[in-house]
Amino acid sequence: MSSKKFQGKTCVYCGTPGASGTADHVIAREFFPEGAKRANLPQAPAYRQCNNEKSKLEHYAATVLPFGASHTESRTILSDIVPGRLAHNRKLARELAEGLAAHFVSQDNGRSWDIEMTLPFDGVKIARLFQMIARGLAYVEFGIMLPDAECVVHADFLTADGRSFFDRVFEGKGNKTGERNLGNGIFVYDGVQSLESPQLTLLRMSFGAMLGGDPKARGARVSVVYALTAPRKMSAASRLVEFLRSQGV
Ligand SMILES: [Zn+2]
Repeated sequence: MSSKKFQGKTCVYCGTPGASGTADHVIAREFFPEGAKRANLPQAPAYRQCNNEKSKLEHYAATVLPFGASHTESRTILSDIVPGRLAHNRKLARELAEGLAAHFVSQDNGRSWDIEMTLPFDGVKIARLFQMIARGLAYVEFGIMLPDAECVVHADFLTADGRSFFDRVFEGKGNKTGERNLGNGIFVYDGVQSLESPQLTLLRMSFGAMLGGDPKARGARVSVVYALTAPRKMSAASRLVEFLRSQGV
């Protein structure tokens, strides 16, 4: 979709000045079913090429992620929307069918057991998408650009140790967004920006799980992606990124 407001602006995803021809929905409309609150979704200026790359990643994520979602709309999305997407993508349908696995899990040291379905997904594609979303949200929330030449942006699912480390950052000082909830829990995020270094931000993002939910709820914890953005010049930032990498699940 095109919007005059964003024409000729710097692309938030690649940082090319004057390249923007479109307004990109930072969280694609595709993630929200018809009738859900699709209006007022955050938008950012994007170069058509970046927009196309992001669309492909979004289409992949919108097909795969509902299998692991726990929000109220996920049942509707799985029954009404995902089959149509899979019918048009036989290769992905086959990969998902082959990869779908059932595991027995216990939350109470073996007194009772549940069957948990897991679905392997392409972590590189998901991480790349969240990297782009982080750049878009940093623009929307903090009004900052994070061009690749100047900044590192790292996004990943984290282990429990990584999560508890970064959760503490949200309790400290900083410019905080508060919890944002799009489409009744379809996408939930919050962010914090350093007061000293504007490009140093941390975002917690989730498709389909409340951030403030039960910390013992396995699915809810694992579905949260953390993104760290930082100036390349900052040496502490590279150590943090290394730490994030080491904590990835
Ligand atoms: Zn771009």
